[in-house]
Amino acid sequence: MGKLIVVTAPSGAGKTTIVRHLLATFGNLAFSVSATTRSRRENEREGVDYYYINVQKFRELVAQNAFLEWEEVYENQFYGTLKSEAERLWAEGKCVVFDIDVRGALNVKKAFPDQTLTIFVKPPSPEILFERLKKRKSETQESLQKRIAKAAFELTFEKHFDIALVNDDLEVALRQAEQIVGEWLGGTKPETINP
Ligand code: 5GP
Repeated sequence: MGKLIVVTAPSGAGKTTIVRHLLATFGNLAFSVSATTRSRRENEREGVDYYYINVQKFRELVAQNAFLEWEEVYENQFYGTLKSEAERLWAEGKCVVFDIDVRGALNVKKAFPDQTLTIFVKPPSPEILFERLKKRKSETQESLQKRIAKAAFELTFEKHFDIALVNDDLEVALRQAEQIVGEWLGGTKPETINP
């Protein structure tokens, strides 16, 4: 089994950009594509961003113990990491990168404490995060409210992560992420920015 890197952030903190940058920088990283019951956004692709499945199928997979971890991230919206996905990537010799929510991240860390590096991407302030979320055009008013409430909750989890990475200036955050992951892949545990 290989190493794992879990990148978590409140929605709107810029996590996806950081994950994409890491995948483009390090050839031995691979993204764990999660299964979800939420509908596909216009710019997303099946099998690349998520495996889109319905709630019944999701429940079947839960009953079959097919998930490494799963959560009802929003009410009636399920997300989960398939064991088969992580195993496939480890078999290829990759270090697996997860973009999952705070509870999922901590569950993965608990299951594989020594192999897992957890990174919490945080906005410069909660207010800035809420503003960023409001500017997203993909959100309906209802889903925006859900996301703001969830983000406020998630911000309280920072201290449980190995690394807290502030995404204020994106270029700076990308360089820091590169350095942290480079060290981790090289075998040194990056100096914990989070005391
Ligand atoms: P979004 O709908 O914006 O793509 O994702 C919503 C939240 O679900 C994000 O915090 C994302 O990291 C999280 N998420 C995505 N996939 C998984 C997963 O497999 N497991 C868990 N626990 N959370 C996930």
